[in-house]
Amino acid sequence: MPREFPVARVRNIGIMAHIDAGKTTTTERILYYTGKLYRMGEVHDGTATMDWMPLERERGVTITAAATTCLWRDHKINIIDTPGHVDFTAEVERSIRVLDGCILLLCGVGGVEPQTETVWRQADNYNIPRMAFVNKMDRPGADFARVVEMMGERLGSRPVMLQIPIGAENDFRGVVDLVRMRSLVYDGEDKGEKYRVADIPAEMQEKAQAAHEQLLEAASECDDDLMHKYVEGQEFGVKDIQRGIRRGTLDGEIVPVLCGAALKNMAVQPLLDAVVDYLPSPEDVAVVKGVNPDSGKEEERPARDDVPFTALAFKTVADPFVGRLSYLRVYSGQAAVGDTVCCSRTRKRERVMKILEMHANKREERKECFAGDIAAFAGLKLVETGDTVTAPKHPVVLESIRFPEPVLSQAIEPKTRADEDKLQETLRRLSEEDPTFKVKMNEDTGQTIISGMGEFHLDVIVERMMREDKLAVHVGTPQVAYRETIQNIVESEGKFIRQSGGRGQYGHVRLKLEPTERGAGNQFLSKLKGGVIPRQFIPAVKQGVQDALESGTVAGYPIVDMIVTLVDGSTHEVDSSDIAYRMAASIAVHDGLVRANPVLLEPVMAVEVIAPGERMGEVIGSLGARRGRVDSTEVRGNMRAVRGHVPLAGMFGYATDLRSVTQGRGTFVMELSHHEEVPSAVATELKVKQ
Ligand code: GDP
Repeated sequence: MPREFPVARVRNIGIMAHIDAGKTTTTERILYYTGKLYRMGEVHDGTATMDWMPLERERGVTITAAATTCLWRDHKINIIDTPGHVDFTAEVERSIRVLDGCILLLCGVGGVEPQTETVWRQADNYNIPRMAFVNKMDRPGADFARVVEMMGERLGSRPVMLQIPIGAENDFRGVVDLVRMRSLVYDGEDKGEKYRVADIPAEMQEKAQAAHEQLLEAASECDDDLMHKYVEGQEFGVKDIQRGIRRGTLDGEIVPVLCGAALKNMAVQPLLDAVVDYLPSPEDVAVVKGVNPDSGKEEERPARDDVPFTALAFKTVADPFVGRLSYLRVYSGQAAVGDTVCCSRTRKRERVMKILEMHANKREERKECFAGDIAAFAGLKLVETGDTVTAPKHPVVLESIRFPEPVLSQAIEPKTRADEDKLQETLRRLSEEDPTFKVKMNEDTGQTIISGMGEFHLDVIVERMMREDKLAVHVGTPQVAYRETIQNIVESEGKFIRQSGGRGQYGHVRLKLEPTERGAGNQFLSKLKGGVIPRQFIPAVKQGVQDALESGTVAGYPIVDMIVTLVDGSTHEVDSSDIAYRMAASIAVHDGLVRANPVLLEPVMAVEVIAPGERMGEVIGSLGARRGRVDSTEVRGNMRAVRGHVPLAGMFGYATDLRSVTQGRGTFVMELSHHEEVPSAVATELKVKQ
């Protein structure tokens, strides 16, 4: 069967926003107008369709990145939902990775907020073309011009207005379309489905004309032909202007800005038009490249159907109906139900059992999918998030998605003993879905430890267990996930020899331990001369090293950023065994660690606090008291922003603290910046507590 929509008529977009800017509401309206929803869901009455999970409904936050397909003006738009809470930035990153373009949603009152900047920077990293929608124009204090100005100042972007609002606050009733120089007025009784196209109100003529001129100038700077026309003083047609804006948007030169009020059903359709007119199709973005695992050579995979199938798994979920579902972004080629595909990491082949396209209120089974599509595959049991899935004969590895290591951990146990197995099963499923959520057993205490990216992240997981699996659990206080590393290079020896009658045990290794760059992880190398240890035992040595690195000698935290090299050892004809080498390697690592000047590392967060100017002294003081350092401060309207770095350990309870110093007016966001050595006085305290 041929494809329904040519790739040029596909849009893969995301909506990025500060929490509460109105992303859920806007998405709801989009789904409603695109005809896939029969009833408009409202966030506050808990019927919004994008948020599947009951918990999300209750909290009004969107957590999982579900991809939803809708149709508009004969285009297929896939909306990849991006979560708004900062504890989920890894989720944002993974969605951004598979998007071609995105809408930045801003609140008409708040404008550019700290989290807007975070997501903007993420989009910058992946060179995503974007446009902006200034929502909540009906709210008291909404100021379109100011928000546009903020976008220039804070985001370093070049915003270009495609519209200006008609009326403001309570009186907001539509927009002037600066491309066609007309107004779109929403004064009907329905849900904004019908709007009136009218002349620009007389009192706005002058302002609209000036803004139109600015738009023409910007459009002409983005396109040589237009520039030519512009200098020659020739007239521009609508198509000309659109071409210029499109070019500029795709090149990241400009950011078109629109406005509206999703809650009041105003000006959402023009936003959809703009997605079609200005955001890229899969053909418009850079051709994806990967490495062929057999040849080691780089290969290109253009967005065409007649090249080998190549897709990236960006989300894995356990689905109640079909089991494991892998959301794939198809970069090239096509795949059909019944085809065999191959995961480039494991080189294992699997059959595609079902291909689903998710809509807001239903899932559609498809026989096949094509270059540029987003689809959910059932049947891929071995594919994990971040894996490349290809045609079996044409393996390639696309750059995987980076996930940060968890920074916070917490003990967890079921309220009733009988639930132990169920708990382990649920934890396994959750950690499979979310690569930033990990589960481990503490061997000394027998406790199950969960870890994640922040307090809110872990809270959400615990609540999901209660709601989805009816699993009641007790959790301990959250603890910082410290790490350990070494500062000196040492050599060490480990022997595991038991020879007392019968067959004995013999393992003997010499290792070199050396520190490496922060963030590099651990590495194991073998530089043995001759056959001092038979090759077959090397994996056992590596395993023994890994065992030992799980718990350091300072306070039992995992060891990172260290290179371990097997340099020498010996063997015994009869007694050598895997287990003996594994033990010997562990002994050698432990022995070496103690002498290699080990230190504790802690996660340090990049923090931004927004608070009233007159409270700056207290805010800076409170960060200092938490071992933080302030890097910069700046004026933000009548507020001040303080940026700095604070150890995560210092951030517990900060929300309450900030509320009290600022009478509830301060807010903050934080994300993992890097790991740093714990100052010795603090480390001593930690060791005592252990
Ligand atoms: P999200 O956190 O970005 O998904 O934001 P929501 O869509 O949940 O909206 C946050 C709050 O803002 C809700 O109470 C909405 O009803 C409200 N809201 C959303 N859009 C508008 C709007 O256009 N005008 C006004 N006044 N409120 C809005």
